[in-house]
Amino acid sequence: MNIHEYQAKEILKSYGVRIQEGIVVDQVGDAVPAAEKLKEQTGTGWFVVKAQIHAGGRGKGGGVKLAKNLDEVKERASQILGMQLITHQTGPEGKKVNKILISEDVYYPGESEVKEYYLSILLDRGKACNVIMASTEGGMDIEEVAEHSPEKIIKEWIDPRVGLQDFQARKVAFLLGLSGQAFKEMVSFIKSLYRAYVETDSSMFEINPVLKTSDNKILAVDAKVNLDDNALYRHKDLAELRDITEEDPLEVEAAANDLNYVKLDGNVGCMVNGAGLAMATMDIIKLSGGDPANFLDVGGGANAKTVEAGFRIILKDPNVKAILINIFGGIVRCDRVANGVVEAYKNIGEINVPIIVRLQGTNAEEGAAIINNSGLKVFSAVLLKDAAKLVSEVLK
Ligand code: GDP
Ligand code: MN
Repeated sequence: MNIHEYQAKEILKSYGVRIQEGIVVDQVGDAVPAAEKLKEQTGTGWFVVKAQIHAGGRGKGGGVKLAKNLDEVKERASQILGMQLITHQTGPEGKKVNKILISEDVYYPGESEVKEYYLSILLDRGKACNVIMASTEGGMDIEEVAEHSPEKIIKEWIDPRVGLQDFQARKVAFLLGLSGQAFKEMVSFIKSLYRAYVETDSSMFEINPVLKTSDNKILAVDAKVNLDDNALYRHKDLAELRDITEEDPLEVEAAANDLNYVKLDGNVGCMVNGAGLAMATMDIIKLSGGDPANFLDVGGGANAKTVEAGFRIILKDPNVKAILINIFGGIVRCDRVANGVVEAYKNIGEINVPIIVRLQGTNAEEGAAIINNSGLKVFSAVLLKDAAKLVSEVLK
């Protein structure tokens, strides 16, 4: 689960990580009072108005702007709030800005006096441990740094049996070329950040940029936090940070129905039980010349209701040209699923895309008979190979 910059910074701050202070608002009229309050708290006279959306690259897209006085705060706030912000991560339609963060300017007295760094912590699945990545090339697109100058990315892997060791934090700070006060600040920044990452069960923290101010403070100017969905059950407070307006509406609807759904770009909608079978189904669709429109795992207890919910979600995707239902009857019986498909089909009404149903396992034959006798425009297949062939035929 992704959260907003302002929420991520609050988490960081609660772990003692120094941040660029700010106050979030959702009305233009609240921007100047927020700036005045911030001035009282921090002494800052300059401000930065920052769009809060779940996407990076906001600066380049015009969603992060400096304001040198309160009038400019108001002007920037009215420009950014409500705008449709387009960045390389939002897609061409962009994202509507519903909240802005009024922040203190931390680049005082000027950009030549400060230095931006990159720092992230994430799970390295290949090495089965967390890794700290750091670079002197902060503020830039890290993918670009990785491509053109990979030697500028420092990586420090953390042994999960002992956690982050002090020498590792010092090593990263040293490799970033820091010394004196800034070095000490960076070491404690990394240690606090790592503790926050572990204790919140996050799967990614990306702080880009981390800033060294002109007076050698180290602080987080930006914060991108990805929380592990599978651990949210033990972080009720963090789970509340979810902002569904930022998420794909189909994925939100699927989650409400306990379906595991991920939207993809292809044209064949899939409804499958079990993640492994879902992945195999996507492979076979690819091999037969189609492209999966989604990943959808209806789970082991698929019934008429979940099948119908899955149907509705798949049909809302305008790219879908065919639907492949691939169910293995283990706990769930195929005749029940078949009845569910027929019922859902009748409930939803006119469905103009061909549907291929492949039922295998318990009561597979009874299931196929129900589909074949239903009189609906549904094709039934027993073997996955045949189902794939049907998919490629209907696509033609
Ligand atoms: P992103 O573009 O979505 O990654 O948003 P960031 O929070 O990283 O901000 C983008 C850029 O805005 C930063 O890389 C800085 O160059 C600039 N910026 C952020 N905060 C300040 C600030 O306090 N003062 C100045 N002058 N620039 C800032
Ligand atoms: Mn950034």
